[in-house]
Amino acid sequence: MILRSALLSSLTWLDHGFGTRHAPLSQDGMASLKQIHSAVVLDAASAGPAGEGDALVTAHGGLAVSVRTADCYPILLADARTRTVAAVHAGWRGTVARIVAATVAKMGGHPADIYAAIGPGVGVCCYEVGEDVARLFGLDAPGNVDLAAANRALLIAAGVPESNIELLNACTRCDAARFHSYRRDRDSAGRMISYICPL
Ligand SMILES: [Zn+2]
Repeated sequence: MILRSALLSSLTWLDHGFGTRHAPLSQDGMASLKQIHSAVVLDAASAGPAGEGDALVTAHGGLAVSVRTADCYPILLADARTRTVAAVHAGWRGTVARIVAATVAKMGGHPADIYAAIGPGVGVCCYEVGEDVARLFGLDAPGNVDLAAANRALLIAAGVPESNIELLNACTRCDAARFHSYRRDRDSAGRMISYICPL
């Protein structure tokens, strides 16, 4: 089972998907990253490892860019005018580092042309953090952080129209039937692969 965004599915020039635990997609044949919880955005020119970073951008027809997650958020972006796409891995560190904004900039077009889907990740229901992390999200005590909402706000601040952003609103920790979750399963947690590809 692969989840798809209705918004991105309306763009007929691309293929995309958010992996679940029932979609053992391999990253073979896709561009991939050694993910380091950074705001480093890399251009992908071919399949295989592109280097260390947390977002991949491409405009090559037939080349899928991909990320691996299990609570962190996979975010897929598509510029409908330039047909440039990106796959982003955003946990709390990448969110604080504003990786989605860095990705929009690296895509090089007009933010108003970008469509975005924020995939399954740990929901605000399950993402309680300590004071140090809470402070980075504007809380003054330990509490629950909403990484999906934070990334949506970063996209809007970067100029992506609100109506071009879809949240899948699926919590990886709550829904053990569908998703791997690092917070739930710790070291035994698998990873889910999300990808986007200009056709
Ligand atoms: Zn939850």
